[in-house]
Amino acid sequence: MMEKKTYDSLNFNMRPLDVGPPDMIILHHTNMKPVEAALERLSDPNSKVSCHYLIAADGTIYEMVHETMRAWHAGVSFWKDRTNINDHSIGIELDSLGDVFPLALMKSLVWLIEDIRTRYTIPDFNILGHSDIAPHRKDDPSEHFDWEFLAAHGIGWMPKGRKELSEAPPIVAIQSWLRHIGYSIDLTGLMDPQTIGVVKAFQRHFHRQKVDGILDSETMTRILERREVSV
Ligand SMILES: [Zn+2]
Repeated sequence: MMEKKTYDSLNFNMRPLDVGPPDMIILHHTNMKPVEAALERLSDPNSKVSCHYLIAADGTIYEMVHETMRAWHAGVSFWKDRTNINDHSIGIELDSLGDVFPLALMKSLVWLIEDIRTRYTIPDFNILGHSDIAPHRKDDPSEHFDWEFLAAHGIGWMPKGRKELSEAPPIVAIQSWLRHIGYSIDLTGLMDPQTIGVVKAFQRHFHRQKVDGILDSETMTRILERREVSV
C-alpha cells in the first residue's frame, strides 16, 4: 500500500448523471516546479483547473479531487465519439517538466492505476495522454514519458510490431484509421496542419523516437497496427 496524502482542490463539479462511471485515465505533466507550486495552482479557485491525483517526483501520491467527482484537467477534448473527456475520466498530473519522469514516480503511477482499476473498469485503450485527446493544444505528458514501462506492467497498449506495409496507403485512409482509433481528425486527404498535429500526437504516444508529423513507413505501420486492434 503506497502512501496517499490529501490536498483538497475545490475545482470540481458533479459528473453528469447520464454518463456511466469513469472508464478513461488521462495523464498529464504539470510543467511546473516545485511540486508545491503545482499543488497550489491545481487548488486555486482562480485557476479553474484541477486533477484527481498528482504524483510527486519522489512518488508521493496526492489525492486532490474525489474520483466520483468531475475534475477539470482535460479542457476542450475529443476521443472516439466523446467530447468533454472530463465527464468520463480520471485525471492524473505528474510532477515533471516533461523531461524526466523518475522511477519512484513511475512506480507510484503503476500502483495508482492498478488501484483505480479495482474500482473502475478502465480498458487499456482508454489510458491516454492529454496530447491524444487535445493534439493541437497539448503535448503532455511528452515523448519522454515511458509508455512502454506502463505496458510492461500490463497498463495501456503499445505496438508489438507487424509486417511493414508493401505500399503507402492514401492519406485519407490513414486519416480514417486515426479517426477510428479515437483521434479528432477530418478526412481531407491532405497532409494539412490538423493531420500533421494528429500524426505527431500519435507518435508522441506510440512511436516516441520520432515525433515529427511525417508519415514514414514505421509510423504508418504502427497506426495500422493500432487501428487493427481498436474496437
Ligand atoms: Zn495536461
